[in-house]
Amino acid sequence: MACGSAQNGKSLIDGQGRPISYLRISVTDRCDLRCRYCMAEQMTFLPREALLSLEEIALIAERFIARGVRKIRLTGGEPLVRRDAMDLARRLGRSLGHGLDELTLTTNGTRLADHAAALFDAGVRRVNVSLDSRDPDRFRFITRVGDVSKVLAGIDAARDAGLAVKINMVALKGLNADEIPSMLAWCAAEGHDLSLIETMPLGRIDEDRVDRFLPLSEVLASLRERFTLERDPHNSGGPARYWRLAGTATRLGLISPLTDNFCATCNRVRLTTEGQLFMCLGNEQSVDLKSAIREGGLAALDDAIDSALFRKPAAHDFRIAPGTAPTVSRHMSVTGG
Ligand code: SAM
Repeated sequence: MACGSAQNGKSLIDGQGRPISYLRISVTDRCDLRCRYCMAEQMTFLPREALLSLEEIALIAERFIARGVRKIRLTGGEPLVRRDAMDLARRLGRSLGHGLDELTLTTNGTRLADHAAALFDAGVRRVNVSLDSRDPDRFRFITRVGDVSKVLAGIDAARDAGLAVKINMVALKGLNADEIPSMLAWCAAEGHDLSLIETMPLGRIDEDRVDRFLPLSEVLASLRERFTLERDPHNSGGPARYWRLAGTATRLGLISPLTDNFCATCNRVRLTTEGQLFMCLGNEQSVDLKSAIREGGLAALDDAIDSALFRKPAAHDFRIAPGTAPTVSRHMSVTGG
């Protein structure tokens, strides 16, 4: 096996020879919003006793850092609804400059105003904030329960605290497609980046995702009629291509796992709040790190990580077609978006 037994902190190389340097951690599967494309209205969340403790998450993350992970993103569910999420951010922030290059967060922004300054103090410098519409009624419809003014206040607080903000917007036919140009213009005026995301077939929801699916190739073509977009060579190792809005600092990312995948350079793995390590968002295989660390400590954890890496698939299995079940049964909120 390419990565050996790795008890000595050898680097993380998967079975396809790809170096793994990025860990996403879902700190909770719970969320205070119910976005239509993400979740069903009635969701059953994990019982608290099934979750990794803060200490367990930190130990696993620190082991990944010792073995070569340089970037960690806290996500969920909504990470800021977990009571000890900021303690975790502070704990992981201590690894910055000691193996870890970057600690980031993906949030829906509803609680960001309360936590932005503390995130900066913990060492976070960039946050991704999901915002599928700036229109209050539309935002409420998409999220079923959300108040967009809280999210906009959170985004302002993040910027005031010194955090760079990237807006994540899922492109949805008939829901927010017409708002994409004004969202890009607003991001440019506010100094934020924007990432557009194709809706992915993850978990059952109350509608057929095909009805909302919008290929980003179409979105890009229509944006180019109104904006001058220049290719940006930035590569995050993820399923995104980047463009720069001419004359601004704003970078536009297109995350198009369905129409244009970049699995060959994938550098990431994902830890769920239950302690499962998923090697790929679009695949059902996982390895149980919770049992490994509880029953066999760090040595067993290393072995479980090695076995997971060896099994990381070459590419995801996403397909989207009318009337078909989601490719992957778990929701994005479980794996961590
Ligand atoms: N609660 C945080 C948030 O709202 O950003 C973090 C978790 S959320 C699951 C992460 C990202 O995944 C959000 O940008 C959300 O819009 C996106 N997302 C959720 N379900 C999705 C799906 N089925 N397809 C594409 N993106 C999805």
